[in-house]
Amino acid sequence: MKQSMDTLCVQAGYNAGNGEPRQLPIVQSTTFRYLTGEDMGKLFDLEAEGYFYTRLQNPTVDQVAAKICALEGGSAAMLTASGMAATFYAVFNLLSCGDHAISTTAIYGGTYNLFAVTMKRMGIEFTFVSPDCTEEELNAAFRPNTKLVFGETISNPSLRVLDFDKFSRAAHAHGVPLIVDNTFATPVGCRPFEFGADIVTHSTTKYMDGHACALGGAIVDSGKFDWTKYPEKFAGLCTPDESYHGVTYTERFGLGGAFITKATAQLMRDFGAMPSPNNAFLLNLGLESLHLRMRQHCANGLAVAKFLADNEKISWVTYPDLPGSRDYALCQKYLPNGSCGVVSFGVKGGRAAAESFMRNLQMAAIETHVADAKTCCLHPASTTHRQMNDEELLAAGVSPDLIRMSCGLEAAEDIIADIAQALEKV
Ligand SMILES: *Cc1c(COP(=O)(O)O)cnc(C)c1O
Repeated sequence: MKQSMDTLCVQAGYNAGNGEPRQLPIVQSTTFRYLTGEDMGKLFDLEAEGYFYTRLQNPTVDQVAAKICALEGGSAAMLTASGMAATFYAVFNLLSCGDHAISTTAIYGGTYNLFAVTMKRMGIEFTFVSPDCTEEELNAAFRPNTKLVFGETISNPSLRVLDFDKFSRAAHAHGVPLIVDNTFATPVGCRPFEFGADIVTHSTTKYMDGHACALGGAIVDSGKFDWTKYPEKFAGLCTPDESYHGVTYTERFGLGGAFITKATAQLMRDFGAMPSPNNAFLLNLGLESLHLRMRQHCANGLAVAKFLADNEKISWVTYPDLPGSRDYALCQKYLPNGSCGVVSFGVKGGRAAAESFMRNLQMAAIETHVADAKTCCLHPASTTHRQMNDEELLAAGVSPDLIRMSCGLEAAEDIIADIAQALEKV
């Protein structure tokens, strides 16, 4: 029975049996007991399903992954200890030393550093293309050793909306998957698999948790990309894995299971960024109300963006859903149910005016976080990017007056009243 997003947020994943706990049980155990060595041996050979050590799999963690899999409409999913771990595993599952990948420039700063600096040390090269590139420019970025294309549905912090058609068409024409970080939109706002993405990643730390209490990440596979059409390019999925008893992932687990099983068997085994069962439980609690919370975050974001657009002390506003904003058409096409609660804007008067505005806020808290229940904001020029002068800031795509505001779940009129009184004193 096909269920709606609202129902899946509440019901998917854990299913209580007769006399079992109604709420998802926290299996706080590192290890699992077996009666015979042969029973356990079958698990190690991936011949039987079951749990043996929480670094690889844990029932609580798996049930929450199953919920996120259902929300995205995927074939398999896994959780990770952070969003960064999810991004790294998702790309490193396909890349080896000597490989190449393409990413848009409109991505999270941590992801840019991972791709441009850390993965370079592994002998993996990324080419970065503008989200506004032409198809010609995009196609020219591919090389014979290109293995994937990466983008964000709504980029953090630049709030660009991914042109799914353009990027998925180019990826598929070159026989590689499109991997999309869907953190800001969440599946409530956008299901990237419906627009040509093949693999989705999340920082569940943001809206999915939604209460600023548990770091986490997720990877979901659509099961639609046919690795076996390119067995040499994706040899790790299509040829025997000597580190796992000669398993060939696509043969044993099919297109629906190969990617996630390989990421669990190799990357979780060797890098171990597993979330704690307790954090998975907290994430599930957040997911139970994700659909309701996203409506309020989006409504508040739009109300704040409209207020700012009409205010004479504001020089510019970026919000994908604001009529007239740069990606408005893409937002209507891919995010018809609303985008997110994050708005960025500039206060007239540059760095000093922005600092004064921040000082005057009474309810909105100053934080390097976004996407939880409480409204918060950040002025990068005086905090995260404070060592840069104005020219360096502009080169990094952060204007000195930029303020990023994450609208929480309070009443829109109270968020706006706080902004209004702070602006008056600037
Ligand atoms: C926060 C964030 C990440 C990193 O996630 P962590 O959970 O902090 O590791 C990755 N991508 C996006 C879009 C983010 O907002």
